[in-house]
Amino acid sequence: MPLRTCAGCGGKFAKASLVRFTVFGEVSGRIVGIDPGSGDKDRSGGRGAYICPNPVCFGKAMKKNALTRRLRAAAVSPGLKQDFEHFLRLRNNHDKKESL
Ligand SMILES: [Zn+2]
Repeated sequence: MPLRTCAGCGGKFAKASLVRFTVFGEVSGRIVGIDPGSGDKDRSGGRGAYICPNPVCFGKAMKKNALTRRLRAAAVSPGLKQDFEHFLRLRNNHDKKESL
């Protein structure tokens, strides 16, 4: 099982359990967003950064500018926090359905 480091807490976790971030918009400035393929196998290639599915880790990563540094991006997407929370909700719903 491949391990990746959380950009927030610095812990190592199974890649599939983390949320993957990648860079969009090579031309109009490199912006960090959530990789829609998170959790799946490497659907999108390229450079990625990972954060635990946990708003605390997300907050820590934002404070350290860990995503923009790791991904050599200009900025994060303006709605990234909301996107992250939305992604967690979707994933939780999905997990619940699977366990029923
Ligand atoms: Zn973490």
